Amino acid sequence: MQVRRLPLVAVFTCALFLSGAERSPAIPQPPAPDAKVPAPPAGWVKEHLAVVDKKLDGEIADLVALYQHIHANPELSLMEVNTPNRLADEARKAGYEVTEKVGGNGVVAVLKNGPGPVVLVRTDMDGLPIIEQTGLPYASKVRVKNRDGVEVGVMHACGHDIHMASWVGTARVLASLKDKWSGTLVFVAQPAEEIVAGAKKMLDDGLYTKFPKPDYALALHSDPLTPAGVISYSEGLALANSDTVDILVKGKGGHGAAPHVTIDPIVLAARMILDFQTIVSRETDPLDPVVVTVGSIHGGTKHNIIPNEVKLQLTVRTTTNATRDRVLKAIDRIAKAAALGANAPPPEVKVSLDEFTPATYNDVPLARKCGAVFGEILGADNVRSRKPVMGAEDFGRFSEGKTPIFMYFLGTVSKEKYDAAQKPGAPALPGMHTDAYAPLPEPSIRTGVRTMSLAAMNLLPPKGK
Ligand SMILES: [Zn+2]
Ligand SMILES: [Zn+2]
Repeated sequence: MQVRRLPLVAVFTCALFLSGAERSPAIPQPPAPDAKVPAPPAGWVKEHLAVVDKKLDGEIADLVALYQHIHANPELSLMEVNTPNRLADEARKAGYEVTEKVGGNGVVAVLKNGPGPVVLVRTDMDGLPIIEQTGLPYASKVRVKNRDGVEVGVMHACGHDIHMASWVGTARVLASLKDKWSGTLVFVAQPAEEIVAGAKKMLDDGLYTKFPKPDYALALHSDPLTPAGVISYSEGLALANSDTVDILVKGKGGHGAAPHVTIDPIVLAARMILDFQTIVSRETDPLDPVVVTVGSIHGGTKHNIIPNEVKLQLTVRTTTNATRDRVLKAIDRIAKAAALGANAPPPEVKVSLDEFTPATYNDVPLARKCGAVFGEILGADNVRSRKPVMGAEDFGRFSEGKTPIFMYFLGTVSKEKYDAAQKPGAPALPGMHTDAYAPLPEPSIRTGVRTMSLAAMNLLPPKGK
């Protein structure tokens, strides 16, 4: 689904193929059991939640309308125009100092409110090339030409519209409660999350140098499999390193009836694909998670022609630098060894550094600090621990400069739909990136704004103290 652009690649000819800047955190940090949890003082959450809820009650109808507007008008990665304009307007109206076109289509909205820490709140903005099939009255009917000139449908199938409505709601709530906290808010709307490019673009354009550098960075992501009103998060590792690898398998074409005078790149590619499986099964510690998936294979034109070459496209998921280096080198080694064995020219093995995104590690003390507040807001049963997954998100990039980051997952499904899906034999709930994903707006956004507002305020000291 990713639109492939490969200007920046590392070709496996030099020994050191990964620059230091492209490295993810060195070692997965196991949750520190003794990480201090400076819980807010007794009564703090209750008192602040009451004022947040009061403000939110006046905003929620408008936020749902904003959500429906954004949902009906999605824009593809790197093609965000109206969405950032709207978010910039909303932040400006809420009293923030707004800078647009940061790292392309990014928006940075700053609210300085006295001495104290800098808290960053991030949303993403892009939709996906999917034709929406939800049947909702505000379903997207948008069709555009993608960057390759192909007409596609566009849909917010990853819930970035829920993120944006929650972001605007949180920005409004925190601005209206300026007398309750001291410090600086940096609200960031990043483009191009779905191609894991936007965060890097914004950081490369000076997000942490031209604007106040955050002491904490927070984000939420919608969860299509959990009821609204429930959130979940991981401590430490949350999401994996993601690399894409392109392999051009070279052979020598000829007639399909005379294979002995050719070097068949299809047989060779098949051998490589099977050999890659041993990277996980035979070369990797069973307790070290790794995924090597060949998601695309293209070669040949006709039954009886052996082609000159075959193209493979791989996604590689790891969770540490050391394993990432080892697995990428193993792919290169195995591809070249297979070619040597077939008496074929060496294949071209390219890692796209543009499409790399580092693992997301939730800072443990920060996660626990936010988790303590969430428990009081939603009730302990509605705050769940979550296993890390091998998916990827470029929110991990915001840990640049050792910034503690925290991403949590926001349930978005109605209780009825969730309960129905738990029955034996019932169809599964539509997942993320599917054409049927239809988050329940009101309670999801409400929960997003309540949790994010209180999490941010809990990181900022009270005004005048
Ligand atoms: Zn997505
Ligand atoms: Zn997403």
